[in-house]
Amino acid sequence: MKIAVDVDGVIFDLISVFLNIFNHNYNTTYKKSDITQWEFYKNWGIYENQVYEIFYQIYNNKFSISLIDEKIPEYLRIIKKDHHVDILSARNHNFKSQLIQILLKYNINKGQSYDRIILVDEKPYDLKLKYEYDLYIDDNPNLIEPIKKKKDITLFLFDQPWNKVSICNKNIIRIKFWKDILIEIKKLKKTDILH
Ligand SMILES: [Mg+2]
Repeated sequence: MKIAVDVDGVIFDLISVFLNIFNHNYNTTYKKSDITQWEFYKNWGIYENQVYEIFYQIYNNKFSISLIDEKIPEYLRIIKKDHHVDILSARNHNFKSQLIQILLKYNINKGQSYDRIILVDEKPYDLKLKYEYDLYIDDNPNLIEPIKKKKDITLFLFDQPWNKVSICNKNIIRIKFWKDILIEIKKLKKTDILH
């Protein structure tokens, strides 16, 4: 299978770092659970560019960022043995070398953990679908509707507060933990053989 793995909200816990900086800068006390929608900033009375200003500082590796699950490097290597795995992120192209660096810091390297890094613009949200993967592992709920329309591809929606209300069925599967990704991939392969 051709698999696309998203970065922020799937591999790295970007939003926790974002909240530390945001709360410090704006004297607020927001928590991760307060981010209940993708475009959360609209309810916070701030502009999108204020959000991206902080994201870009994080993309520049100015702050330390954690893995969502410390076993991700190991899981990626296991998946990569049987599949083509690309890192597919809606991150500004200017931060590609910084992304390679931070992945390497966590022992996620080209060849062993992934095949290619592909960066797309932040919008439109369905831009990632142009690359035609069999499976997308992503936390963006805006991918649900376009992927629902394509029966031959699957979305593993990585569970986050900003996609909690999204309904998952058929080719949209909610994933709570990385270890479940391996299990669900095996199930997909079995279904392929049956049909
Ligand atoms: Mg993401």
